[in-house]
Amino acid sequence: MAVGEFELIERYFRQEAGALGVAMGVGDDCALLNVPEGQQLAVSMDTLVGGIHFPKNADPELIAERALRVNLSDLAAMGAEPMWFTLGLTLPNANSQWVKGFSQGLFRVANEYNIALVGGDTTRGHLSITIQVHGTVEPGRALMRGNASVGDEVFVTGPVGNGAAALAVIKQELEVGKSAFNYFMDHYYRPQPQLQQAKTLCGIAEAAIDISDGLVADLGHICEQSVVGATLHLERVPLSEPVTKLVPFEKGIQWALSGGDDYQLCFTVPPSRMSQLEALVDQKRLQVHHIGEITRGKGVTCLYNGEEVSINTEGYQHFDSKG
Ligand SMILES: [Mg+2]
Repeated sequence: MAVGEFELIERYFRQEAGALGVAMGVGDDCALLNVPEGQQLAVSMDTLVGGIHFPKNADPELIAERALRVNLSDLAAMGAEPMWFTLGLTLPNANSQWVKGFSQGLFRVANEYNIALVGGDTTRGHLSITIQVHGTVEPGRALMRGNASVGDEVFVTGPVGNGAAALAVIKQELEVGKSAFNYFMDHYYRPQPQLQQAKTLCGIAEAAIDISDGLVADLGHICEQSVVGATLHLERVPLSEPVTKLVPFEKGIQWALSGGDDYQLCFTVPPSRMSQLEALVDQKRLQVHHIGEITRGKGVTCLYNGEEVSINTEGYQHFDSKG
């Protein structure tokens, strides 16, 4: 395959000039970016590998959507505003149909969230996508894992367990009707980064994380970084309607606790800011579920109707083509 084919592909990623803060985007040796005065840059990178993080034969538009959306979720977890991203694309061959679909999916999400592609690289090898996102946040306003304190209340922004349910459907471990199938596929390939709610939570929440590894693991990260423990009340953990219709509570809650790929936010709020939080919920600017509290000690303790239960948290399971 000639190098020219890859050059052709890179044309699919040319964007029109004029994006916010971009002095020089794709087309020179480096991008030149103007970080707005008085803002911090929030930077995160995620790699998705074909056959591990998504099925290799999935629709390229959907692969692109998922790759950018999961990166945007990390910006949301910090309360940062999306600005720019770079793309590293490794392809087994220069299939222009595939790249065309991929670029369409990518720019659909980029336009929706107002984030500009400012550079990247294309190489030949096993299918893999690396995206680095850049966002901005006011100094002192970022939501960080290490900020939880004993007595804080613990919340999530929406249902958890959909990611694990979707994985079970993709791996054909579960048979579902058409509407449930569409619901879970939409969740898997088009997760909704909680950017708007995260912004609203800046100044109210203390610690936050996006749920990519499972509720217990991710709340556990907050606990470790903050040197605290947490209690979770399992009967309060929100499951989606398709999950509750599909499986018994025990299975649904297992998915919620240890599944991952949910991309809701888990965050803590100190008692002194609870009334501010409630006002925002009343104004419908936030949708939250109160699921627990931060305690002294270590790790996450699960209670079901007040009784301690032990849970199997084997953690995040990747998509696996052998599955
Ligand atoms: Mg994250």
